[in-house]
Amino acid sequence: MLNKAINQLVHYALENHFLEKADCDYAINRVLYLYHIDTFEKEAIDEPVDFFQVMEELLDEAIQRSLIENDITYKDHFEAKIIDCFLPRPSELNRHFHELKRIDPVKATNYFFHFSQATNYIKTQRIKKNISFVYEGKYAPLEITINLSKPEKDPRMIGLLRENPDTDYPKCALCMENVGYYGSSDKASRSNHRVVSITLDQEVDGWGFQYSPYAYFNEHTIILKKEHIPMKVDVKTFRELADFVDQFPHYLMGSNAGLPIVGGSILSHYHFQGGRTDFPIQKAEIVHTIKKGRVIVDVLDWPLSVIRLSSRDRTKLLAMAEQMLNYWQSYSNPDLGILAKTIECHNTFTPIMRKQQDQYHFYLVLRNNRATTERPYGLFHPREELFHIKKENIGLIEVMGLAILPGRLKQELDLIQHVLKNNLPLTDYPELKKHEPWIEKIRDKVLKAFRMDLFLQMEVGRIFEEVIEDCGVFKRTDRKAFIDFVEKACR
Ligand SMILES: [Zn+2]
Repeated sequence: MLNKAINQLVHYALENHFLEKADCDYAINRVLYLYHIDTFEKEAIDEPVDFFQVMEELLDEAIQRSLIENDITYKDHFEAKIIDCFLPRPSELNRHFHELKRIDPVKATNYFFHFSQATNYIKTQRIKKNISFVYEGKYAPLEITINLSKPEKDPRMIGLLRENPDTDYPKCALCMENVGYYGSSDKASRSNHRVVSITLDQEVDGWGFQYSPYAYFNEHTIILKKEHIPMKVDVKTFRELADFVDQFPHYLMGSNAGLPIVGGSILSHYHFQGGRTDFPIQKAEIVHTIKKGRVIVDVLDWPLSVIRLSSRDRTKLLAMAEQMLNYWQSYSNPDLGILAKTIECHNTFTPIMRKQQDQYHFYLVLRNNRATTERPYGLFHPREELFHIKKENIGLIEVMGLAILPGRLKQELDLIQHVLKNNLPLTDYPELKKHEPWIEKIRDKVLKAFRMDLFLQMEVGRIFEEVIEDCGVFKRTDRKAFIDFVEKACR
């Protein structure tokens, strides 16, 4: 059985072009070593190979042979190590990517994206579990995803975690040292992880290009600085984003803000995120336009305060973005609670760039991270009463209108229906406590709804819209002040 499974995997690796025929024996011997066996027979594989089924068999064998524990973390680490036996070295993949990029950048990313999927670095099967729906609210339709792709940790692992405390190698999940890293009880399996080198803003091979293992959208890409330095947003960031979309015009790319509260994901490692997809923000209506030479400045109707610069002239576009950032960083409007500086500076951008037929579109999202005694989590952060749906920082993905909500919500929404349908006391369900005020508010409407599940989904969408509205520095009702700000900023 093990012999057949290895043969099937060889067949799959050849079919998916991550193994060359000349390297077959070498790869097989590496797998045999992992299983502590020293014999093998080649078998002809005629039928198509189901990767996930074969991998399950290989992992069962590893458990039966006491090579690993029957636990998802151990299984993931071992799976990545098996796959790594078949993969090219990072430098070989890098060379091939750049050969293709010289012909056509689309060919290069297609190759690397397919590679990352076929090697199960991108967890395609787990991503399929996510629940997605669209919410038609006050703005362009928002997209909501309940993230069910990340497996829950086995409680037994918590004990192990304590025995194996966090080390600082690799320093973080984005560091280059993750390439080929086996993984630990608290660090992901990275044996099959590959990153290609790219050059941005004249830093030759100073950046890494990789896909996100738990993709939130099509070809979800992470661009990371090879050096572990903290997030920041300045004029250099703008040049780096422009260099990226110049080289990969079929991808959108953005950066999280570099300040706490308004910055998303990992603040300790400078990186960008983007991909090959359209986001709801691109459908936002324009409410005001200013033409400044070769740059068009649009104010968008969006829950957050968004300015879009459009131009074919890169130099003029970047100069305008710099001018706007400088103006914003010193802008205060106490009537609206916007203070550029208290002890620290508070104003920054979430910048997002894309290119369409040689035209750059640069979305500058105004962010302010000031916290007050009444709003300790941030004045322009979701209100506490919305934390039952989304508590985390609002980063660039949410800014663009795509909500990534925690997996626990699925069970909770199912439970809410069950409780309401059967008129059960809410107090019997401690996990619903955080939703209580909301449930009481919508109880009658849910019971009258034609489809309770769809009604609850729409409610979640409505709350997400409020969540991102809370992050807007100029509210919809402050449009005059917003336009006045933009007029002055681009003067
Ligand atoms: Zn790092």
